[in-house]
Amino acid sequence: MSSGQRRRQASDGAEEAAVSARLPQVSPHRGLLTGASVESAGDDRRQHRRHRRRGVGANLSATKFDIIYLAVERLGFSVCPDEDFVTPYLIWSDLGVPPDRISELRAHQRINHFPGMSEISRKDLLSRNMAKLARVLPKEYKFTPRTWCLPGEYSSFLQHSRELRKVGKLRSFIYKPANGAMGHGIRIYKNGEQVPCNGVSGGGNGGFDTTGPAIVQEYIAKPLLIDGFKCDLRIYVLVTSCDPLRVYFYNDGLLRLSTEKYADPQKCESDTLYMHLTNYSVNKRSENYAKGDDDSTGSKRSIRFLNEYLQKRDYDVPLMWRNIIDLLVKTIIAVQPHLLQHYRMCRPASPPGSDSVCFEILGFDVLLDHKLKPWLVEVNRSPSFGAEQPIDRRVKLGVLDEALRLLNIRASDRARHANAQKVQSQRRLMRGRSNGAENQHQHQHLQQLQRERELVRRREELQAQLARLRREADRDEHEIRTCRLFRRIFPGDDRVSQERYVKLMLAVFGALTPGRGAGSGAGTLKELEEQYSCERPRQEELMDQLARCEEQLQQHQQPPSADASGKLQNGRQHQNHRRPWQRHHPPQSVQRRQSSLTLSADEVDDSADDDSFDDDYNDAVESGDRQTEAKLEAEGADDASGRLPSVSSTPTLTTSTSTTTPRRRHTVVAASGAGRSRGVQADRSGGIGTGDQQEAEQLCRRMLDQLNELCIRFPGKSAQQAEQVLAGLRQNWRQNKALVAGYWLAKLDADKRRKVIDIVRQNVRATLSRCWRSGADLDESRICRLFDRVFARLLSSNGQGLWATFGNSASWESALLRMREPPSLPELACCRRVVQLCQDCLLTVFLFSGQSAAPSADVGASPSTLSRDSGSQLKRERPSLSVGFTYRASLG
Ligand code: ADP
Repeated sequence: MSSGQRRRQASDGAEEAAVSARLPQVSPHRGLLTGASVESAGDDRRQHRRHRRRGVGANLSATKFDIIYLAVERLGFSVCPDEDFVTPYLIWSDLGVPPDRISELRAHQRINHFPGMSEISRKDLLSRNMAKLARVLPKEYKFTPRTWCLPGEYSSFLQHSRELRKVGKLRSFIYKPANGAMGHGIRIYKNGEQVPCNGVSGGGNGGFDTTGPAIVQEYIAKPLLIDGFKCDLRIYVLVTSCDPLRVYFYNDGLLRLSTEKYADPQKCESDTLYMHLTNYSVNKRSENYAKGDDDSTGSKRSIRFLNEYLQKRDYDVPLMWRNIIDLLVKTIIAVQPHLLQHYRMCRPASPPGSDSVCFEILGFDVLLDHKLKPWLVEVNRSPSFGAEQPIDRRVKLGVLDEALRLLNIRASDRARHANAQKVQSQRRLMRGRSNGAENQHQHQHLQQLQRERELVRRREELQAQLARLRREADRDEHEIRTCRLFRRIFPGDDRVSQERYVKLMLAVFGALTPGRGAGSGAGTLKELEEQYSCERPRQEELMDQLARCEEQLQQHQQPPSADASGKLQNGRQHQNHRRPWQRHHPPQSVQRRQSSLTLSADEVDDSADDDSFDDDYNDAVESGDRQTEAKLEAEGADDASGRLPSVSSTPTLTTSTSTTTPRRRHTVVAASGAGRSRGVQADRSGGIGTGDQQEAEQLCRRMLDQLNELCIRFPGKSAQQAEQVLAGLRQNWRQNKALVAGYWLAKLDADKRRKVIDIVRQNVRATLSRCWRSGADLDESRICRLFDRVFARLLSSNGQGLWATFGNSASWESALLRMREPPSLPELACCRRVVQLCQDCLLTVFLFSGQSAAPSADVGASPSTLSRDSGSQLKRERPSLSVGFTYRASLG
C-alpha cells in the first residue's frame, strides 16, 4: 500500500486534506484567510498565538486547516502546545480518534469526533447499514443508490447486471474504493460485467491501486444539471451529542460543479471524470475549472445561488429541502445505535443528558437527480476546511464559528464538572454508609428495606429525569440565543415529524442492534421512547411525582414515635395516604410533645455530620426529659393565649414568641379578627375563601401578613440580632457562598436537606391553619398545593432548587406561572416569602452548625454576628438552644 493510500484510509474521507498534506510547507489556502502577511508568517503565527491568548485552551495540533485556528481565535480561545492534551477544552483532529482517547477525556473536554461514526463515513459500512435498513424499512431508506460490497457481493452484482441486460436495460455503474476519498480510484462502467471483482492494480483513476475492498453502485444517470454541468451539494451537519441525540443542519453550503458538460455514459464515448465527478479535488486539475467572481459563478457556487436558480425554473424548492433534511435525519438515525453503543462504552460514567465530550461536523455529499430527488452519495466525517476561494472561507468559517458557539464551551466548565464530580462521590460515600447501616438491620427489616430501596431508586430516577429536562431547557435557551444559520433537525420542533422519527429510531435500533451491551435490548428501546417522546412528562409533573415519592419515602423512614403513655408506635401506620402537610401534623398530644422538643447546641451542631440527627430526636422523644416537659407547659400556655402552636417534628425546631412592636401586633390582630368576623371559609374545591375572589385574596393577604411575621430564630439571639447575623452573611456572600454551597449541596444528604425545609414547612403550615377557620380540608386547598410545589422545587435536583434561588434564579416561580391555573399575585407573594424563609433557615442552620468557621471573620465584627469564637461560645453558654422559629407578633 502506498503511503498516499495509507493516509487516505486513515483520514476516512478527508478530501483535500491529504492533497494539502503532500504540499511541502504552507497550504495554499492560508493566504486567503488572513491576507498576504499570513502566508509569510506560517508556523510562526501559530507559535505567536500560543503565547498571546489565554483562557479556554484548544489543541489544534492534528489539524492543518488554518481556518480552524481562525475560528478558535475568534472565540478567544488560546492554542495549547501540541503535546498538551490535558489542559485544552477543545481538541480538534482531522483524523478519526480511537475510543481509548475518548475514554481518557475529562468531562469538560470536547473532541470533534464520535466513536462509531465510521458506520456511515466509510462507503462500505454505509452501504451495508443502508441495505439492512432498506430491507426492514423500504419506504424510509431508499435514498442511496443500490450498492454491492466487493469482493463479497460480486456474484450477486453480476447476476443483477445480467438480468438488466437480458430485459434490454442498459445501466452504468460507479466503482469506488471502500475507504477512498477525493475521487481516487473511482471508475465508471457502462457494462456491469466489466467491473473487476478485486479492483485494478495500479490501473484505477490517477494510477491509484484500486485493489482491496471496494463498492460498486448504480450510477445516477440523470442528474440535475446547472448550465449543462453535473453538480452535487456539500451540506454541513453538526451533531452535538448522541445521548440524547441532537442534530443541527447548516442553512448554507456549497454547490460543486463538474468541469465538462454532462452526457449519459451510455450515450457518449467520453468517460472523463471531469464530466461525471463533482469533487473539487478532481476538477481543480481541469483546465476548465473556473474560480468564480462571486457565489453565483464558477465551478463552486453557493446554496443560495442554487435556490434562486431552481426557483426561476419553477421547481418546488421548499419540498426539495424538506426531502434533503429528511435524508439527513434518517442517515443520522441510522448511525445512532452505533454512536450510542460506542459512546456509552467509552464514557460509562456519563449519565444520559450530561455534556457530551464528543461532537462532529459532518459533510454530506448529496446528488440531486433531474426530478430533484436527493441521493446520498457520501458522508465525510472530516470535511475539508480548506479555504482556497472566498466562498469557502465564508461558508466554512460560518459553520465553524457557529458550531463552536453552539457547543457553549466556557472557562467555568472545568470547575463546574469538578464540583459535580465531588458532589457525586460524596453522595456515593454517604449512600455507602447508609447501606452499611441498612445491612445491620437486614434480617429484621428485609421487606421494609426492599421497599425503601425501590423508593430511593424511583426518587433517583425522577431526579435524573428532572435534571436532564433542565439541562435540555438550558441548551434550548442557549441554542435560541446562538443559532443563526444552524437549525436543529433532531429533536425537531414539529411534533408530528418528531413522533415519526422516534418511531423510526426505535425500528432502526431493532434492526441494527449492534450485538450486546449499551444500545441494545428492550431496556434501551423503552429508554429511547421515554427520552424522545413528545408525551414525556413536563418538569412540573415530574416534580409532583418527586414530591409524592419523597413523601412516601419519608413515611417509610419515619422514626417510631411515642404515644401519650410513652410506648413506641410506628408513626407510619397513622400517616399512610396523607398529604405532606398532614404528615407534619401528628395528633395533638404527640404534636405538643414534639413541639417542645429542644436539643442541646452540640446536638444541633452535629446534626449535619452524622446519623445522630435522627437518633437524637428519637432518644429525646423516648426519654421525655424534664426540660421538654417544662417547655411543654410553657407552650401550652402559649397555645392558650392564641399564639402560634409549634409543630415541629424535627429536632432542631422550636417556636417561641418574641415581643413585637405594638403597631405590628395591632395590625395582625386586627387583620385576623376581621377575617373571622366575615366568616371566611374554604370552598369545597380547595380554593381559598368563600368562592368570592375578593375575599379569597383578602385571606391570602392576611396569610402573607402572618408569614411576614415569621422569622428564623437563632439560638441565643434576639430576632433583630438574628437578622443582623444573616444580613452579615449575605453581605459577604462572595466569600461565604462556596461554604454554604458545600454544606447544603454536599455535606447534607437528601434527608437532612428535607429536614431543613421541613422546619419552614411545618411552621408555615401552622400559620396557615390559624387563618383557616373553615371546616374544609386545608390540605386540599390550593395554597397548600402551591406551597407543596415550592418545597418540592426547592429540594429538587439534590437541593439545587433552593441553591438556585441564592443566584436570583426564579425557576420555581416560572414553574408556578406555567401551571394551568397560575397563582394570583398575593399567592405568589406568599410563595416568595416561603422561599425567603427557606433561605434564612438554611443560612441559620449553616451558621449554627459551625460551618461558618472559615468565612465568619468576614461576617462582621458586631456583637450580633457570628464568628468562629462566638459560635463556639454560643455552644458553651446555651447548651439547650435550638435553631428555630420566632413568631414576631403574637396573634390574638
Ligand atoms: P470520493 O469520496 O472519492 O469523493 P464519492 O462517493 O464522493 O467519492 O464520489 C465522488 C463523486 O462521484 C461524487 O461527488 C459524485 O459527483 C459522483 N458520484 C458518486 N456516486 C455516484 C453515483 N452513484 N451516481 C452518480 N454520480 C456519483
